[in-house]
Amino acid sequence: MRIFDPHIHMTSRTTDDYQRMHDAGVRAVVEPAFWLGQPRTSVGSFLDYFDALLGWEPYRAAQYGIHHHCALALNPKEANDPRCAGVLAELPRYLLKDSVVAVGEVGYDSMTAEEERAFEAQLALAREADLPVLVHTPHRDKAAGVRRTLHVVRDAGTPPERVLIDHLNEVTVGMVADSGCWMGFSIYPDTKMDPDRMVALLKEYGTDRVLVNSAADWGRSDPLKTREVADVMLATGFGEDEVDRVLWRNPVAFYGQSGRLDLDPDPRVGPDHAGNTIKRG
Ligand SMILES: [Zn+2]
Repeated sequence: MRIFDPHIHMTSRTTDDYQRMHDAGVRAVVEPAFWLGQPRTSVGSFLDYFDALLGWEPYRAAQYGIHHHCALALNPKEANDPRCAGVLAELPRYLLKDSVVAVGEVGYDSMTAEEERAFEAQLALAREADLPVLVHTPHRDKAAGVRRTLHVVRDAGTPPERVLIDHLNEVTVGMVADSGCWMGFSIYPDTKMDPDRMVALLKEYGTDRVLVNSAADWGRSDPLKTREVADVMLATGFGEDEVDRVLWRNPVAFYGQSGRLDLDPDPRVGPDHAGNTIKRG
């Protein structure tokens, strides 16, 4: 079984996790830029973080046989801090880098005017860079958050097939299914979706445009949740081809729109920080 985790924060995880992920079948990940828990107070600390997602983290992943790509953005939560606003001016040159396959995570956290401005600005940057967009949705008042998110995407003129709306549940999946955007589900140990509820939604909505991720980060989370969903799918009547579609081909199709997905059979071969092809590890 081959698994592509389309949303995971490996910066917050250990080498043991990489090993366990590889043992479970994970061969590729996308790491979106997010809030690190400790608020950043300057643009420079974002740039160091972006450089780590472009250089250091792919190097770590490659040592465990896992392809690492990233999505870059000013995350919704820190979009509220005026000290971080300058990140938007730095993003265009970062979005040109080879292993950047999307703009993200963008969207709403507390649904403030500042978040909306950063969201709209980054939808425009994604269009200019010709990249798909990974959109985070708020954990509180989710339905209103998703409704407004879909409005902003529509008003920006971003084609729905270029947009992945993440952290969905039973309440919000229908709106996103109707919108034509891709549907992302984060499987957590005790909040959001669990594997059984996820598989029930796959039965109801099908496997088209559905992505399943662990969203594992510095909080209580589990990088093997993608594999658990695959196992529950197989145990409840889905075939291996459907599992491969949800856990590999769908993320490849979504991020492949960047034209930059590099899934060479040897993950140690790939672009280095300067864009040269090198063999790592
Ligand atoms: Zn995340």
